Amino acid sequence: MTCTYGSYRNPVSHSFIEAAQGLGIPYNEDYNGARADDVGWLQFSIRMGQRCSTAKAYLHPVMGRPNLTVITGTPCERVTFEGKRATGIVIGGEGGQRVLTTNREVIPSAGPIISPKILELSGVGSPELLKKHGIEVRHALPGVGENLINHLHTRFNFRINKKVTVNNLLANKLRGAAAMLKYLVTRQGLMAIPSVTAHAMTKSHDAAPYADLKLQIAMYTAKDRYLDSSDGLPTDPFSGIGLGQFHIYPQSRGHVHIKSADPADYTEMKANYFSAEGDAEAALAGMRKLREIAHHPAIAAHIVDETEPASTSIAMPICSRHFLQCHTAGSRPVRDDPLRPTMLSHCFS
Ligand SMILES: Cc1cc2nc3c(=O)[nH]c(=O)nc-3n(C[C@H](O)[C@H](O)[C@H](O)COP(=O)(O)OP(=O)(O)OC[C@H]3O[C@@H](n4cnc5c(N)ncnc54)[C@H](O)[C@@H]3O)c2cc1C
Repeated sequence: MTCTYGSYRNPVSHSFIEAAQGLGIPYNEDYNGARADDVGWLQFSIRMGQRCSTAKAYLHPVMGRPNLTVITGTPCERVTFEGKRATGIVIGGEGGQRVLTTNREVIPSAGPIISPKILELSGVGSPELLKKHGIEVRHALPGVGENLINHLHTRFNFRINKKVTVNNLLANKLRGAAAMLKYLVTRQGLMAIPSVTAHAMTKSHDAAPYADLKLQIAMYTAKDRYLDSSDGLPTDPFSGIGLGQFHIYPQSRGHVHIKSADPADYTEMKANYFSAEGDAEAALAGMRKLREIAHHPAIAAHIVDETEPASTSIAMPICSRHFLQCHTAGSRPVRDDPLRPTMLSHCFS
């Protein structure tokens, strides 16, 4: 896996780093190094100017191995069993239903939302739930699909006075074409990096034992976090930045479970955001810190006004649908403790 700094750095992102330093957050050149805390430029999974996906990094170099077959576009529906021993999987898709068998291991790795679904469809999970859907219980494991953790993202949007954002590339076709050409020829520029450019890992309050907030700057703004383009431009028509935050260790726990025995059916997911004591306070602390950063002279010099939520209340963006982003981190039991969730790393972007 290649992990590199972005090839493009703009003055507004730099002013975010300067403002955070002004608030007492030290600069960290390499947060994947000795310490992960503090403020610095983000590192990305980019190789030679292109996204270095896990497939590109780990799979493509070994595609020629005789013991490796990659089948794409083929959903796994369930695991097959002989008694309590997993013997293979049932796959669906356009080729129709097929059974693939193994004499070694079956590793469900379909992510925190779908892995529990595959287990439950296979008869591994809460006996009560499985019986409700008419699924034979192979192994009673009530932790499956429980302990769903989501890193909730909340943010402020600002109009700025520099044309260095993704908004500018989408709002002006000529500018967009020039950026695309630059990227194709040199693999440089705004199109060579993700929209989030710098971050700060810091404590929500002085007594916190370690940094529990991730503050970040994104080089785009949009009314909808998911860049819905059905209603014209996906981003705002002006230069905009988003200042957002995640609480890294939320205590709220949700669940994700099957709704029926049909593999094509969606799962039912409940995140239970802010249900645990302290989660809302941490998010509010993060939003307060973002406002302090926005008011620091270094970045304030670039900011024209706050466009979303444009309110004096910091509780509002936390309640608004448009300002929430899912960042699922776990939903399964682990071997030694059926109720401990699997946590996945968020150390680099
Ligand atoms: C919006 C967002 C932003 C994030 N940003 C960061 C970040 O900046 N840094 C960071 O470190 N992490 C980030 N994460 C978290 C990171 O993406 C996950 O932790 C990581 O991808 C989990 O890896 P995984 O292999 O468990 O699951 P996934 O990456 O979800 O892989 C699961 C795979 O299983 C496939 N699949 C699903 N169902 C089936 C089926 N029935 N049969 C066969 N295959 C199936 C899916 O197509 C997918 O390819 C982010 C997550 C989100 C949602």
